[in-house]
Amino acid sequence: MALIVQKYGGTSVADVDRIKIVANKVKNEIEKGNQVVVILSAMSGVTNSLVKFCNDITTFYDNREYDAVVATGEQVTIGLLAIALQNMGIKARSYAGWQVPIITDNAFGKARIKEIKPDNLLKSLENGEVPIIAGFQGIEIESGRVATLGRGGSDTSAVAVAAAINADCCDIFTDVEGVYTTDPRIVKVAKKLEKITFEEILEMASLGAKVLQTRSVELAMKYKVKLRVLSSFVDAPGTLICSEDEIVEKEVISGITYNKDEAKFTLVNIDDVPGVSANIFKVMSNAGINVDMIVQSVSSGTKTNMTFTVPDSEFEKAKKAIEANKDLLNYESFLFDRKVVKVSIVGIGMKSHSGVAETMFRALAEKNINIMAISTSEIKISVLIADEYTELALRVLHTAFGLDKEISEKE
Ligand code: ADP
Ligand code: ASP
Ligand code: MG
Repeated sequence: MALIVQKYGGTSVADVDRIKIVANKVKNEIEKGNQVVVILSAMSGVTNSLVKFCNDITTFYDNREYDAVVATGEQVTIGLLAIALQNMGIKARSYAGWQVPIITDNAFGKARIKEIKPDNLLKSLENGEVPIIAGFQGIEIESGRVATLGRGGSDTSAVAVAAAINADCCDIFTDVEGVYTTDPRIVKVAKKLEKITFEEILEMASLGAKVLQTRSVELAMKYKVKLRVLSSFVDAPGTLICSEDEIVEKEVISGITYNKDEAKFTLVNIDDVPGVSANIFKVMSNAGINVDMIVQSVSSGTKTNMTFTVPDSEFEKAKKAIEANKDLLNYESFLFDRKVVKVSIVGIGMKSHSGVAETMFRALAEKNINIMAISTSEIKISVLIADEYTELALRVLHTAFGLDKEISEKE
């Protein structure tokens, strides 16, 4: 008998028919003698429209009220799955985050899980019930308020629950068959990976591959959760996330990602003196915004230009912070561009191979794609380009690094 955590994403619970399919999948495991704990997302599109409702009133909302709104999507699906399972004669009950409880910090809107008390879940399992938990949400104990975990947070709920109850595995069911070399919805010749290392999927997730939330990978790594990504639509083995020594054939590049949630600012004619970058970071972090890429142009005399990127979802906040700190930053004017995308190549093989950056930049240059900013780490290279070239850039890089699926495998 195994203790299995299953997480189903938005498309997997998109309507009542899909929820019945999920109920059948759970039933199959129960009939095999396994115990199952389920984590659910909201129906696909629901969280987006809840977020939009908030933004349609103001982009400067109280995050606690934003959480009160956006946490509602998951309550619908957990109740419906419990009803579907009960209707099949299987004992089941739904749990909102606070009923587990899943305890978070007070960073409303992008909270982190501090602790999960497993007793209620374990009791449920002992009673032969299937606990069905609302993903994406928890409770901040001091205020007693619901807190959400950031977009895509149900993945993190699932891994955290799996760690808390010491589950044998955590299966993330989604709308594609696993982790691919790049987004299979954009590049048709993307290949499904049988295995990928924690380090690589962590980097890919943080660079925009939304198949897993970054924090879920961090937790799986820390608590050694056996994590798989697989489809709820097709019966196929999916992708196992594992450590480096479990992968025999190592490619130089494992994946290519893109992130459109980027906005670029350029501060024109600022003082070329020490401390300017520090001031930009200070202004942004005071506004709760993460600065990502940063580039300083060659100075002309005592003045220079500074370009940096922030999440586009924080654009209004960032703009307001820049305007409010004109004196401190001492710029002559500022420019912005919201139509940019960050494209990244990721691979542990980069550690031991040279020429990777050259291949990347040359492939882009051959298509006349201009690079506005570059950032690198040991296992990734990112470039900022105009977002109209997203698909083209992904395709040429995918081919340049030999990742395209064989012709015979194409559907
Ligand atoms: P869910 O609602 O199940 O959580 P998400 O939309 O959050 O699903 O994540 C799955 C999506 O991630 C896929 O539909 C795919 O378009 C996208 N994706 C981006 N990069 C990758 C990748 N490298 N491998 C697989 N899927 C990816
Ligand atoms: N429903 C939430 C979202 O769309 C959480 C999730 O699906 O993981 O971000
Ligand atoms: Mg997701």
